[in-house]
Amino acid sequence: MTTPDGPGERANAQALALLADNPGLQRIFAAIDIDGDETRIVGGAVRNALLGRKIEDIDLATTAPPPLVIERARAAGLKMIPTGLDHGTVTLLVDGRAFEVTTLREDIETDGRRAKVCFGRDFCADARRRDFTINALFLDKCGRLFDFVGGVEDIAARRVRFIGDPETRIREDYLRILRFFRFSADYGEGPIDCDGLLAAVRGRAGLAQLSRERVRAELLKLVGARRAPDAVEAMSAAGLLGPLIASAPNPARLRRLVEQDANADPLLRLAAICLETPEDAERIAERLRLSKAERDRLSRAARVIVALHGKPFPLPEHVLNVLLFRHGREAALDGLTLAAIGASSSGQRAAIDFLKTAPEPRLPFSGADLIARGFSGRAVGDALATLRERWIEAEFTDDREKLGRMLDSAVARSAAANR
Ligand code: ATP
Ligand code: MG
Repeated sequence: MTTPDGPGERANAQALALLADNPGLQRIFAAIDIDGDETRIVGGAVRNALLGRKIEDIDLATTAPPPLVIERARAAGLKMIPTGLDHGTVTLLVDGRAFEVTTLREDIETDGRRAKVCFGRDFCADARRRDFTINALFLDKCGRLFDFVGGVEDIAARRVRFIGDPETRIREDYLRILRFFRFSADYGEGPIDCDGLLAAVRGRAGLAQLSRERVRAELLKLVGARRAPDAVEAMSAAGLLGPLIASAPNPARLRRLVEQDANADPLLRLAAICLETPEDAERIAERLRLSKAERDRLSRAARVIVALHGKPFPLPEHVLNVLLFRHGREAALDGLTLAAIGASSSGQRAAIDFLKTAPEPRLPFSGADLIARGFSGRAVGDALATLRERWIEAEFTDDREKLGRMLDSAVARSAAANR
């Protein structure tokens, strides 16, 4: 057991006490910890409390086997969702908050993707099957910290290290390669741990075994992390990223994006690494099983990148209005942000501000206007498409006379075509 008593650790001790003191948690402890069983907080919540970071989910580890957890939670009137029962997890709902309670496990067999586990009673063995030292700390109901793997020291040094031999740990689960870069990017300072990096490179062929869904989830978290540019650069240099995204990565563009906008969302960050053309959007969406909305966002952004290809900055307002009109605000902003990385920052900022605030031009003609002038069937859509182009050429005029003439000439063209 380790008690935090180093310099600056008092705040941490307080955060830990507060975490353990959570009334919802105390109800769970009271319900489950009977007849010699013990439940402790584990993983991300303990790590984040020590770092003074926001605590998202609270995971619990318990010596009680799942049927007992269920029985005792039911007896105490706690709501539960038996979602992850296969691997020993029961989700308890207390005061509207979900807590995942997982029975202590020990791996008995792994194939690089899935582990065969048996339930155990040993917190130390449970710690050792976790991935990184900073993720394997336990906190008991009295706020006492248990560190079997040197996690407290690594948290203080902001060091992300595998528990045990990195190569062995990666062979057990190749997702740990991605998790290594993600946690390094989120929690690490200084250079990425070199033993972990070497093991990741050695194990890289195993990445091909991972399901696209797992890669997708982990990669989006990775690119969203604070030091993503460093992690992505290291992965790219080590040849780990190209095969995952099925294209040659551009880590420098991610770095510039993050420098310009630290709040850029994960999908845009991913796009910065690998999006140039609509074909790239299709490939990456396929490779990472992106949702339809994500795929569409990437292909629309790519069309804007292509439209801006070779156009010098600063861009005239008309060009920006055309982007808004043809592609919509989100795609215009995404595409321009990516296309403009590296352009003079003032020209780029002005263009982005314009795209954020200018009204999207709305075609002042509708199908109904054309039907009223005798159009029907496909001719309506064709005429609208032509009017859109003419309206762009007329610089989005709102002059009623000019608009009237545009409509008249559409009618005349259609009459000539039908003659
Ligand atoms: P986050 O804030 O990103 O959710 P977390 O630490 O809670 O961080 P999770 O992915 O939710 O991370 O996993 C919870 C805990 O389970 C980790 O802290 C770690 O101890 C363990 N863990 C998760 N995935 C693995 C894995 N692939 N190999 C070993 N241990 C893992
Ligand atoms: Mg978590």
